[in-house]
Amino acid sequence: MVALEKKVHVKMLKCRECGKEYPPTKIHACEDCFGPLEVVYDLDSIKVNKHVIEGRGETLWRYRELLPIEDEAKIVDLGAGFTPLQECRRLAEALGIRRLYIKNDTVNPTGSFKDRPATVAVSKSFEFKFRAVGCASTGNLAAATAAHAARAGLPCYVFIPSNTERSKVLQAATYGAKIIAVKGTYDDANRLAAQTAYEYNWAIVNINVRPYYVEGSKTIVFEICEQLGWRAPENIIIPVGSGALLCAIWRGLKQFRDLGLLSDLKTRLIGAQPEGCSPIVKAFKSNSEDILPVEKPKTIAKSLAIGDPGDGIYALRAIRESGGLAEYASDEEIIKGINLLAKTEGVFAEPAGGVTIAVLKKLIESGDIARDDEIVCCVTGSGFKSLDIFSIDTMSVIEVEPNFSSLEDLIGSGGVMEHG
Ligand SMILES: *Cc1c(COP(=O)(O)O)cnc(C)c1O
Ligand SMILES: [Zn+2]
Repeated sequence: MVALEKKVHVKMLKCRECGKEYPPTKIHACEDCFGPLEVVYDLDSIKVNKHVIEGRGETLWRYRELLPIEDEAKIVDLGAGFTPLQECRRLAEALGIRRLYIKNDTVNPTGSFKDRPATVAVSKSFEFKFRAVGCASTGNLAAATAAHAARAGLPCYVFIPSNTERSKVLQAATYGAKIIAVKGTYDDANRLAAQTAYEYNWAIVNINVRPYYVEGSKTIVFEICEQLGWRAPENIIIPVGSGALLCAIWRGLKQFRDLGLLSDLKTRLIGAQPEGCSPIVKAFKSNSEDILPVEKPKTIAKSLAIGDPGDGIYALRAIRESGGLAEYASDEEIIKGINLLAKTEGVFAEPAGGVTIAVLKKLIESGDIARDDEIVCCVTGSGFKSLDIFSIDTMSVIEVEPNFSSLEDLIGSGGVMEHG
């Protein structure tokens, strides 16, 4: 008989606060201290190597040994992940630096990095035989969960603050989700979703499936390392809302190191928040261990408008442990960041992406990032999702009569216009 290779490498769930261990079931909080649980892998049983991974399909499921799904037939896949790591020569030159990359997660199936946690969480919910899925969302997770639910044939309910960007609501609704628009902040929507998960036994992916959900996000840094030739970058700039992505990146880097896929780990994590909702940056700058929640977030970067970040304290610790930094950017700087990225590199980002570029610029100007440092910026969402923030006067529309002389009157006979 041929010995079957062991496919399930999840050892247990473990409380992030008190360390209590649990079997990997439908549980998400510690029974003793209510702390969040995280997936622990049996790394010794994982035999995967660089060569095997490189030969696999170009989605995040190429790292399946480090994802918490037991039955591969339950994977709900729209092709999330393995997005380009794009070297940015023109943007680097504009900023006066040497080695800059963006991880372009705008090209994911629903236009944001949230497809990473959503594909894992909806797969796990399917495996657990939940009868409905849902999420609490600032917009992007709504679309990502709804799309994967559609693919799985599961009903989907998304809880959003009622001021969520229209294009994101439309997108989620088009995938067939029921939209529950809560008259309040993200934190209000999150509370209502948590209660609903409990009362109806629905899988609210970022609440009661959260230990599994967050595992999807770390694949962004697996890819960055693989795409750099199996090494970790010196700096990663990460947009921060709840802090889950930043924590997942730190966990992912350590897992890759512990598996021997990286020879060392000296990456600094740099957290980027919008000024109008920057509780983690403020705690970092004031050397505090406490995150003071922002009651009424006020920023155009709505996907980061989480006033009371669930993973805030862990994100703060990860930033400090990595020797990293945290910085914020104003709405005006965010818009400038979006425009600069679009005009130099041809990538159209939503405000969360503008935040990372704005923070990059600030930290270079302040000297906190050296000009010859290597930097990877996570660009996590597409500009097509936030069209409402762009005004027509920022665009270069030239209206003409339908004949050449009318055009020539405006452009001139040389055929070259000044570019702003
Ligand atoms: C959700 C989101 C983030 C941040 O994620 P957290 O894990 O909540 O910190 C960043 N960028 C975009 C576009 C997002 O949708
Ligand atoms: Zn505990």
